[in-house]
Amino acid sequence: MTQDFFHEGDLVGVLTTQPIDRMLDYKAPEGGCHLGAFVEVPLGPRKVLGVVWGKGQGDFDYAKVRKVIRVLDVAPMADEMQQFLQRAADYTLTPMSAMLRLATRAPGLGDAPSMRKVYRLGSETPTRMTDARTKVLEVLREYGGLAFTLKEVADMAGVTSSVVKGLVKLGAVSEEDSPRDLPYPKLDPDYGSKELTKDQRAGAKVLCEAVRSGAYGTTLLKGVTGSGKTEVYLEAVAECLRSGRQALVLLPEIALTSEFITRVEARFGMKPAEWHSGVTMTERRRCWKMVGQGAAQLVVGARSALFLPFQDLGLIIVDEEHDTSYKQEDGVLYNARDMTVLRASLNSAQVVLASATPSLESWANVEAGKYARVTLASRYGVAVLPKMSAIDMRVEDLPGSRWVSPSLQRMVQTRLEKGEQSLLFLNRRGYAPVTICRACGHQIGCDHCDATMVEHRFLKRLMCHQCGETKPMPSVCPSCEAEDKLAPVGPGVERMAEEAQELFPDAKIAVLSSDLYGSARALKEHIESIARGEADVIVGTQLVAKGHNFPKLTLVGVIDADLGLQGSDLRAAERTFQLMRQVAGRAGRAEIEGEAVMQTFQPEHPVIRAILGGDEEAFWAAEAGERRAAGVPPYGRMAGIVLSSPNVQEVFDLGAAMARQDGPLRKIGAQVFGPAPAPIARIRGRHRVRLLVKAEKTAPLQQALAAWAAQFKLRGELRMAIDIDPQSFY
Ligand code: ADP
Ligand code: ZN
Repeated sequence: MTQDFFHEGDLVGVLTTQPIDRMLDYKAPEGGCHLGAFVEVPLGPRKVLGVVWGKGQGDFDYAKVRKVIRVLDVAPMADEMQQFLQRAADYTLTPMSAMLRLATRAPGLGDAPSMRKVYRLGSETPTRMTDARTKVLEVLREYGGLAFTLKEVADMAGVTSSVVKGLVKLGAVSEEDSPRDLPYPKLDPDYGSKELTKDQRAGAKVLCEAVRSGAYGTTLLKGVTGSGKTEVYLEAVAECLRSGRQALVLLPEIALTSEFITRVEARFGMKPAEWHSGVTMTERRRCWKMVGQGAAQLVVGARSALFLPFQDLGLIIVDEEHDTSYKQEDGVLYNARDMTVLRASLNSAQVVLASATPSLESWANVEAGKYARVTLASRYGVAVLPKMSAIDMRVEDLPGSRWVSPSLQRMVQTRLEKGEQSLLFLNRRGYAPVTICRACGHQIGCDHCDATMVEHRFLKRLMCHQCGETKPMPSVCPSCEAEDKLAPVGPGVERMAEEAQELFPDAKIAVLSSDLYGSARALKEHIESIARGEADVIVGTQLVAKGHNFPKLTLVGVIDADLGLQGSDLRAAERTFQLMRQVAGRAGRAEIEGEAVMQTFQPEHPVIRAILGGDEEAFWAAEAGERRAAGVPPYGRMAGIVLSSPNVQEVFDLGAAMARQDGPLRKIGAQVFGPAPAPIARIRGRHRVRLLVKAEKTAPLQQALAAWAAQFKLRGELRMAIDIDPQSFY
């Protein structure tokens, strides 16, 4: 049995968030501390955050061991969470201190609880009522005895805060001090459930039974966009709430959160807790603390929400599970989808992976019998999948600086005449991907990366999509100094919008691209106005491929279906397939039938054909066959090693040495490929070299990688990043 309480003076081993890769011994403070307690400990001259991880080692002179400064006023880390962090660290070859940082990303955890003013319904009735006053009292009455901040009350009632203050003076609203980090309001699992269709009911039943089992399990919830996956998994969430356990819904894109929160509120009567980069620091801390105390029943968040200190997590939903943003690509390299399964298995929790176009990994796990599968076959209501076809660009008559083919133009024209919306989809932000000098041929590149600068005409700047560096658009060529010779090459959404405006001069054109909006809120408002029909032609990037409802949209034209088929990424075919199907899913969600067309120079390409044919199972089977034959994920294991340094010689030397001294890898039958320049050979001034390791599915890859990497000392500016199951090949 592990000891779970330490008395004053007992030696405890503390894991800190500092980059020291072992536990440090401290003496338990006055009053003792629990295993898992969050503590503040002295480290050199500083005070740092840590967690009591276990018993101390006792390797040092007891008299010299320092004392824990204090135990923080937050719930101790659960045993499952300790195990989860340890296992996740082992899997991703990440130091424990970095895992702990990931699990404590809330500011001011150690601060004493501060107070703030809250407002609830008072006892008096004002003698003089106004409309504004009535609204305030109605809102507060509707929420029973609940208390809110001044801003919340004013916002809910749609009045200024002075109206609320006025009511306080009259005693109609009471003002009280309350701890800043309030518990989240209780959700009602039976508040606003919808009548499900037969298909949906069957799916919900399977998921609810799984939740009731109280055991671990993973289910792939597959269904075309609009089939009601969200409705169905919200039933599983309801069941989880009924059982008194906590639930987590992961979403791939912050822009989607507010729409989703509104849906949750309609379903459960109250808003859930939120966790993502758009949430204020105060709210983050509240979420973190309340999750730990079990006072947040449901969290809706981005991938890092998986590292919140849930007290009793019973269900995790991964919506759009195939989405690449679940893979964190810097810092700790982890895939939230895979880590979800790990966490659930340690917690006896259920996982639901929802997608219209699952990842091949999940598809293969279903085939192998590891995951269950629930399929929603048809769309809700009368909406049907759009007709899909290709436009063969080899036979279209189109000048080099135009991208909308005459065929596509005619189709958009027809929609305009009928008052319906069209979407021109191009997965490229900005105005033009390349700016070239017509005098000397120079292409404007990033000063720090091997990438061309993308023109963003809206922002009047050039931007590097690798490192984010921007500079003003020069008026003369930086190379030959010729004037007025710089010309854009290739299209981005901004340029597409220009073309669309020329082709359809009377149409209202809207551009939907994440970089054009200052905030998630501005983006949301724009999306809502488009959905209401305040645009005839929408020009958009990737963003539109996810979860929004546009009832008037009946045509989707994919400008360059070949864009995703290029490149050396083993998942290129899969990505293109998913993206095309998702985009096609935008059209015809309401009563009117939709149509999707893809402009392509390779209409006979197997991926294009599979999309058009709508034969998904055939696509997956073929793709699985190819991957199995090549021994690549999910049928084999891979790791990417990226070495980087400002000194090009240094990185190549290390890469070559690593390839030579591959003993630990050979022992497990793994192979090393490279070193080769990474596809982007320079980022932020650092030269990058990549090695790829391939092993059989059952090989103990992490141990071998750790032993292999340990042979090399990283001096000076050299860095090594190990990426298990790499998603991107940059
Ligand atoms: P998905 O998550 O598969 O894309 P959603 O759950 O978002 O599908 O459903 C698509 C739309 O249809 C939503 O507006 C949703 O509210 C509605 N819908 C789905 N099922 C039902 C139902 N049984 N009753 C009422 N509306 C439903
Ligand atoms: Zn750059």
